[in-house]
Amino acid sequence: MSVESAHAVLERAFSRATAFLQSLAQRPVGARASVVDLRAALGAELSVSGVDPTQVLDELAAAADAGLTASAGPRYFGFVIGGSHPVGVAADWLVTAWDQNAGLQVTSPAAAVVEEVAGKWILDLFGLPGSASVGFVTGGQMANFTCLAAARHAVLARQGWNVEEDGLGGAPPVRILLSEQAHVTVFNALAMLGLGKRMARVVDADGEGRMIPSALEGALKSGAGPTVVIAQAGHVNSGAFDKIGLLSDLSHADGAWIHVDGAFGLWAAASPRYRHLVAGLDEADSWSVDAHKWLNVPYDSGLAIVADAVSHRACMSASASYLKQAEQDARDPLMYTPELSRRARGFAVYAVLRALGREGIAALVDRLCSRARQMAGRLASEDGVEVLNEVVLNQVLVGFRPPPGLGGDDFTERIITRVQTGGTCWLGGTVWNGRAAARLSVCNWSTSPDDVERSADAILEAYRQEAALQRR
Ligand SMILES: *Cc1c(COP(=O)(O)O)cnc(C)c1O
Repeated sequence: MSVESAHAVLERAFSRATAFLQSLAQRPVGARASVVDLRAALGAELSVSGVDPTQVLDELAAAADAGLTASAGPRYFGFVIGGSHPVGVAADWLVTAWDQNAGLQVTSPAAAVVEEVAGKWILDLFGLPGSASVGFVTGGQMANFTCLAAARHAVLARQGWNVEEDGLGGAPPVRILLSEQAHVTVFNALAMLGLGKRMARVVDADGEGRMIPSALEGALKSGAGPTVVIAQAGHVNSGAFDKIGLLSDLSHADGAWIHVDGAFGLWAAASPRYRHLVAGLDEADSWSVDAHKWLNVPYDSGLAIVADAVSHRACMSASASYLKQAEQDARDPLMYTPELSRRARGFAVYAVLRALGREGIAALVDRLCSRARQMAGRLASEDGVEVLNEVVLNQVLVGFRPPPGLGGDDFTERIITRVQTGGTCWLGGTVWNGRAAARLSVCNWSTSPDDVERSADAILEAYRQEAALQRR
């Protein structure tokens, strides 16, 4: 490929990408094409002699378009999904062009140093110990995996067992105590670490999903041995926070390691207004947090933070004769992540943190929390619509009172489908305290008060229409 045609294809990508970003505020939020449509549009035979790159790009963008969701846009409230701040997108474009391997200092000194700097900023923003280590992983799943690997290492090392060398066969059993409705990725991490999903013991929670401290105390007392407690900062449904300081005291009194899954909720620590929700955060042993959710950097980006950097390195470090590693004291990125070769995702984190600054990040947190309250207020003002959680952060759970004689689950499902196909906004469903609910997460830097109004109107309209249909 010539230099000129390389330039042409990149320029084409730039104009298509910016056109897409500009369309986000108007395009239907859900995908328009079904998977069957997309297979037909994209599923050609692999070409034998190749296709012109610019043509490939054009056809790819055209065929994919109807199968894209506007999850990067301001009215996507499904799951817990952030958008991307423009400076994060821009930095990530550079990363793609630079094609750095962020595994070792020697393969990209700049990537390694940017992680060092952004890692320090993160610790400072969250008020975590400056000596903690930070691994730049793909997301919350791998952050949980990495932190729990460090936990597994540490609690077994205290029993004189080296799990990295000797495995788990014959090791003292590790007790896992976790929050009710711990995120599914916590269970996946346990499974991958050989700790077994079924080995985990669920500690009772209150109506908002917060672990009950006296229940943890009882659970800790009712057994012994190496123990890991897994708490939540930001319940995946309600956004509620476990009492991290108190749970940390209880865990440490028992010699346990306490990990905090704070995929989105940890960002409360970066706001003076919401920091009280994570009181005692710095007392825990490890923390997982996403950057691609609330910080609004592009996928894929999460952070595994461990107070005991030695345990973090012990479980993740790769060593081989050909891997010339950094000098003592220097930071090779691969010492803190499961991967060796990987994307230099620290650059986008660095760029967004630097562009927003301490106040801009606090403002981002505060703004999305107030949009969530705005949404809750609008929806709850309708007769028959009820907000089911305390809106302490950015999550809103909504219940709809079905017309007489109709089941609530079906009714809720129909309203959600109607909203999704309507295209104004997108939200998902969940089950909350045994009741079907719609679940909204306000996570996008660009969501305006007007976006909330329009979305609330669409949701209430869907509710009224379904109610009217059912009454007929
Ligand atoms: C999203 C989420 C995760 C998983 O994060 P991914 O980035 O999707 O891997 C874990 N825990 C909680 C509480 C989450 O909200």
